Amino acid sequence: MTSKAQQQILIHYGEVALKGKNQPRFRRMLQRNIHQMLKYNGFQATVRQTRGYLSVGLEQIAQNDHPRVLDLIKNVFGIIWYTLAFRIPYQIPIESHFSEIHKQITRALLLYTDGITDLQKSYAVRVKRSDKRFPLKSVAYERELGTFIREHTGLSKVDLENPDHTFYIEVQAGEIYVYSEKLPGYQGLPVGSAGRVLTMLSGGIDSPVAAFLIAKRGCKVDFIHFTASHITREQALREKISRLSSELSRYTIRSKLFLVPYTYFQLAVIDKKIRFELVLFRRFMIRVAQKIASMSKSRGLVTGDNLSQVASQTLWNLASVTPIATCPVLQPLITYEKHEIIDIARRINTYDISIEPYKDCCSLISRNPNTASRSEELDRLEREIFPDYRGVIANSINDMIRLEFYLGSLCE
Ligand code: ATP
Ligand code: MG
Repeated sequence: MTSKAQQQILIHYGEVALKGKNQPRFRRMLQRNIHQMLKYNGFQATVRQTRGYLSVGLEQIAQNDHPRVLDLIKNVFGIIWYTLAFRIPYQIPIESHFSEIHKQITRALLLYTDGITDLQKSYAVRVKRSDKRFPLKSVAYERELGTFIREHTGLSKVDLENPDHTFYIEVQAGEIYVYSEKLPGYQGLPVGSAGRVLTMLSGGIDSPVAAFLIAKRGCKVDFIHFTASHITREQALREKISRLSSELSRYTIRSKLFLVPYTYFQLAVIDKKIRFELVLFRRFMIRVAQKIASMSKSRGLVTGDNLSQVASQTLWNLASVTPIATCPVLQPLITYEKHEIIDIARRINTYDISIEPYKDCCSLISRNPNTASRSEELDRLEREIFPDYRGVIANSINDMIRLEFYLGSLCE
């Protein structure tokens, strides 16, 4: 007696596997994140841990929803590759029902070859036996299945070095997986495995990419954005910053957005001709962000700064801004080329929102970005301009609006 082959999504988790003693914890997090992603999008699926993989059962999911489910899984960090596979259970000794198992394997293979339209493409079969009780040696079975494909499909070109299509048969204890195309995941680590950070989102192209990259390293990510004036919750929801945050939460899972008006800062500097106004503004943003980070249990700040990309991002200016923070200020894009950042922004669907017109605060504030600044001079300027700097920070935080996004939607 053998049971029928079932379709599953097989998930190969990469770096998670390297985490030694922490491995079970990382695996559970990945399992939970995948489950959450599917459940929230209306798919009831069990996520199981199998030997070396996670697998998602598709019993309760209609065939035409499979592409959507695969798309959702792609956004979960910590996955090297994933694939739609057939799971064929078997009993020991396998010899007693080998012909039936073989039939199921070949039937599954034909379903994969059916989808191939260009029959000039080359192929290879790879058999991996983790359970050596399987009666045939890997190479012998590869040959047998290779011949089967040639005889039953229009495919005839075998290429073991660099095939266009590869068919994988993986024999584990009690189950065999058959699959073909390995879909690449984003890799990284499961969100939640590395603590919480607060990303400073400007509405430009770079900072959403910085948020994405830091979430990919396993961080939970919240966002902070400084607005030129006081806005209402309804206005906030229409701003592109909300749409960016919402889009990013498809990867970060759950993210708060803090919208802080910088009116109090502006009031203090207005009508004064101040050198280093932009750097002073940056320092103000860091101070406020740090305070909110500690209120919301974030362990670090993240910015989209990039060395020398714009006049304000010289090493001298960066040196007079980030060191005022007592928590780490992470800058994932510091060495990236602009085109690399744009490539990522396009892939993660933030680019089109980022390039919508927006009154960016720095273009408002900075009439003339001064590129060299010294900390002592800035400290002195701040004492002069803000006799009550704590008050400026407290008022700004007092007037902030808080929104929360979960997997691409606003939490009401
Ligand atoms: P971006 O494309 O993210 O705007 P950028 O290369 O244009 O980055 P700047 O605009 O100079 O650089 O800003 C540098 C960083 O400062 C941003 O990446 C962001 O992290 C932070 N930042 C700038 N403006 C704001 C803002 N209004 N609110 C929150 N953070 C901001
Ligand atoms: Mg900008």
